[in-house]
Amino acid sequence: MGGRAFADIPSTIRGVLVQDAGAAARVTLALDRPAQARTFFLSEPSRFVIDVANANFALPGGASGQGPGAGVVRRYRYAAQANGVSRIVLDLEAPANLVRQELGGRHNAAISFDIAANAPFAPAPAPIQRAGRDQRRRTIVIDAGHGGHDPGAVGVTGTREKDVVLHCALMARDALEHRGYRVALTRDADNFVELENRVRFAREQHADLFISIHADASPNRDTTGASVYTLSDSGANRAQNMMASQNWDLDLGDTRNSLARDILVDLAQRDTTNRSAQFAQTVIPKLGEVAPLVRNTHRSAGFFVLLAPDVPAVLIETGFLSNASDERRLADPQARERMAGAMAEAVDAYFAPPSLYAAAG
Ligand SMILES: [Zn+2]
Repeated sequence: MGGRAFADIPSTIRGVLVQDAGAAARVTLALDRPAQARTFFLSEPSRFVIDVANANFALPGGASGQGPGAGVVRRYRYAAQANGVSRIVLDLEAPANLVRQELGGRHNAAISFDIAANAPFAPAPAPIQRAGRDQRRRTIVIDAGHGGHDPGAVGVTGTREKDVVLHCALMARDALEHRGYRVALTRDADNFVELENRVRFAREQHADLFISIHADASPNRDTTGASVYTLSDSGANRAQNMMASQNWDLDLGDTRNSLARDILVDLAQRDTTNRSAQFAQTVIPKLGEVAPLVRNTHRSAGFFVLLAPDVPAVLIETGFLSNASDERRLADPQARERMAGAMAEAVDAYFAPPSLYAAAG
């Protein structure tokens, strides 16, 4: 695709966003059409340069300016070059390498790069916890569904979802704290919490990951197994509307221009969705080691608790209380502990250093 006429139309860079993406910094360029990019590193001082051919900037600062970085990227600067090239320079805190790139496709022209420091790199005062572990202490918010006057699903023998998921959440907290994570629970007792407050809590905690734990019920008593949900596309739109209505503020740096801001919100949302899916893909095989899985285990839905636009989030249905064998499993504290352990392992794998990602393909 893309004949000469197409290639001659310049693309417009409408947003630049640098985010902390787990073990790497992710820089995303929002473009109105696909473009060719050339990248290279410079040393002393360390920089990463992105040259986008045949492109213009439509950023608040005009044809040149700068913006905030994240992680190993201290800041970015951009300027139009004489030959129609738009150049973005990332000033780095330490020597780094490119661990992932996405060069845009038909449906989404955005270009993104993940850059990771070559050696363990601690931004400012963040302490290094353990060898091989990510430098910054991660916050995981665990959300036990239902509670109080809302029992959730109830099994044939009376097992209540709200009890099962609370125990599972407490076990997951223990397993994660043991691994060095900071864990906050939306509830740690049998009380009711509004859905909206669960989402707000995750944002206030600056959660790196939000895991909502539920148990399902189905009219078909043969339906069995665990499943993992992330936000659907329609849910993502709903998140943006909700963000506007609730005056949720995303930390996007200095964005006075409202169009630029909208684009950055959209990029942040897309990035969150990608990361949610990445965690879902990590946790599914782990759960599969300790519990049966439903077919098409990774599903998307507009669950309210998944709506925070800037917190990667999954909802785990641990099984079906309407199914006799699932209910037996969910009623067994040891089986619940195994599931909690699987979730903790998945969190570790998700935040693993990028070299492991690269080796995995
Ligand atoms: Zn539920």
